Amino acid sequence: MQWGLIGASTIASEHVIGAIRAQPGHTIRSVMSSSATRGADYAAKHEIPESMTDLDALLSDPAIGAVYISTTNEKHFPQAMAAIAAGKHVLCEKPLAMTLADAVEMVRVAEEKGVVFATNHHLRNAGSHLAVRDLIASGRLGRILSVRVFHAVHLPAHLQGWRINDASAGGGVIPDITVHDADTVRFYLGEDPETVVARAGASGMGEGVEDSVMSAWTMPSGVMVQTHESFTHPFAGTGIEVHGSEGSVFARNVMTQRPVGEVELINGDGRHAVAFPEHDLYARSLSLFADAVAGNGRPSADGVDGVKSLAVALAVREAAQTGRAVTVDYGGL
Ligand code: NDP
Repeated sequence: MQWGLIGASTIASEHVIGAIRAQPGHTIRSVMSSSATRGADYAAKHEIPESMTDLDALLSDPAIGAVYISTTNEKHFPQAMAAIAAGKHVLCEKPLAMTLADAVEMVRVAEEKGVVFATNHHLRNAGSHLAVRDLIASGRLGRILSVRVFHAVHLPAHLQGWRINDASAGGGVIPDITVHDADTVRFYLGEDPETVVARAGASGMGEGVEDSVMSAWTMPSGVMVQTHESFTHPFAGTGIEVHGSEGSVFARNVMTQRPVGEVELINGDGRHAVAFPEHDLYARSLSLFADAVAGNGRPSADGVDGVKSLAVALAVREAAQTGRAVTVDYGGL
């Protein structure tokens, strides 16, 4: 299958181009950038045959079967809608859209058109997170009581653009990182957060958008969830803890794009290191997407997963802005 890249982005450059090319028979045919010069440079650097500035030109190429959308967040909706209308399968970056209604529409229209539509939530593809989810599912932790997510990082200088100063492009740590944490918790527990409370603010990087947020969520089962996301913490490290009546699991340095970290189970028998596979997260995401296009199974995170992670993030932002508990609205999905 030949791919078109919509967006000459960092994430495509650092992870997704390689992950697409790791799939047997998958190649990248063209890249679309709003700048002819940047697009041409990007295409040359990544050995992509064509670059263009016109979305319709990319989408009208019948050789292209799928597109990967990794532009800034406000562009995902119109670009995905155009790609779906053109009959392309779509892997879209998170957050799917700026509003819940737009994200729901993307999913509904993709379903009507019969194309595969997926969200690039990479964390649920990590061996570490798969191992934690298996521990929960196996019952070794007993009844799950609480989850704590530590996802306060220091945004690298080369990413300190629209994320920290452009609300209209979808900047802020909530659309950037809270969506991933929402997806990971949903993936672990197989249920959707019900209500959230939150506090957000700027702690040195955000200009007109929040760069730090803490929130607490209730889950239908009664599990309590606490999360911390930030752009401004150089030494905090990341992790996730799941505490159950029979054991606790501590996964450290795992809220990351690379197959790294440690997972430890602590229970009545002592401390146990948990082994996990160290495959590339994005290559697994692309592999499942390719299988879904071939009619086998579903993408690791589909459109509904993208809607739900966005729904939680929007609720966290509303809770932080209003100071009230917010019931998460999943737009009927
Ligand atoms: P970038 O800032 O690298 O790219 C976004 C857009 O910015 C590009 O489409 C490009 O526009 C424009 N751009 C890129 N470089 C420059 C430049 N030097 N000068 C001016 N404009 C430039 O964003 P990211 O790659 O960090 O993020 C893109 C999307 O991917 C976001 O939606 C983000 O949330 C998501 N993301 C997801 C991750 C994941 O693991 N799932 C990780 C990181 C990001 P044009 O295409 O028009 O040239």
